[in-house]
Amino acid sequence: MTGISDSFQRPINYLRISVTDRCNLRCVYCMPENGVDLMAHADILSYEEIYVVVKAAAEMGINKVRLTGGEPLVRAGVPDLISMLAGIDTIDDISLTTNGILLAEYAVALKEAGLHRVNVSLDSLKPDKFREITRCGTLEDTLRGIDAAVAAGLTPVKINMVVMAGINDDELTDFAAKTVNDGWHVRFIEHMPVNGDEPDVPRLFSVREMRERIESLGKLEPWKVDVGNGPAKYFRLPGATGTIGFITPVTEHFCYQCNRLRLTADGMLRPCLLSEEEIDLKEPLRSGASVMELKNLIEKAVASKPKGHRLAEGKKRNGRPFSQVGG
Ligand code: SAM
Repeated sequence: MTGISDSFQRPINYLRISVTDRCNLRCVYCMPENGVDLMAHADILSYEEIYVVVKAAAEMGINKVRLTGGEPLVRAGVPDLISMLAGIDTIDDISLTTNGILLAEYAVALKEAGLHRVNVSLDSLKPDKFREITRCGTLEDTLRGIDAAVAAGLTPVKINMVVMAGINDDELTDFAAKTVNDGWHVRFIEHMPVNGDEPDVPRLFSVREMRERIESLGKLEPWKVDVGNGPAKYFRLPGATGTIGFITPVTEHFCYQCNRLRLTADGMLRPCLLSEEEIDLKEPLRSGASVMELKNLIEKAVASKPKGHRLAEGKKRNGRPFSQVGG
């Protein structure tokens, strides 16, 4: 296997794949209430097309893939895609990001297909608040999904909470206590002002403030985790079997260690989540491009990865919502 690096000497070995732009929730920070214009079915890559892209990328050094969306589990047959990807020798980590609503239904099939682990997005442990944030979800479904994922061995199950000032920051210690009482692995993520209905309402609750809140439960000890490709910094509370991770996309961006590319549901390769540049793979795929031609396009995407984003300077991101590009 050969490796590939971008123009800033960052090794690129991770591909996030959005399998659908559709979602069964309408989280306030991610999507407008009435949803977004949906892609036409014909524009969405088939599983065979995704497989061809991953196979070519794997030959260039990509060895980790994550399925995301939209909500990946609303697309039929996701376990089939996973078993196709699991058949590529050099892919050694397959993960999935989900809101957990359908996870109880699919956990065993996903595990059997070759999925290694899941991240579950969960922003409130209060049923009413959960409904308010997701606009239409039921907390109980996601909690059942988490239990089913643990029972199926899709571990480590990581819980991702987007912390929003004035919305759910009062639940930081409840989530942190779950790492002690239930062995949860929780990652707290700074809210990025990029999507949703309220772009001008400041929702940033910084990781520095989060740590102060959580340390009311005990001193956070730095902790090394073995599994994952992410930018989180990990800690443990005294007596906890679970971990606490902090992700700082805004106050301390981690672009310098970015190792990823993104494939949108409609077949565009994105060098960076927060830049609008995209390289079309769908058209070449559908007009019979050779593997070598696909690899050249992947190489072009890697070469054009920007050095970093500028959210902290208040730079706004315009363009396609996260649900379309695989946030
Ligand atoms: N539907 C899946 C889910 O809920 O996990 C996958 C797609 S969702 C777009 C992926 C992740 O992006 C979720 O963890 C979500 O919380 C995060 N996300 C979306 N908008 C965000 C924002 N404005 N700031 C921080 N994280 C965001």
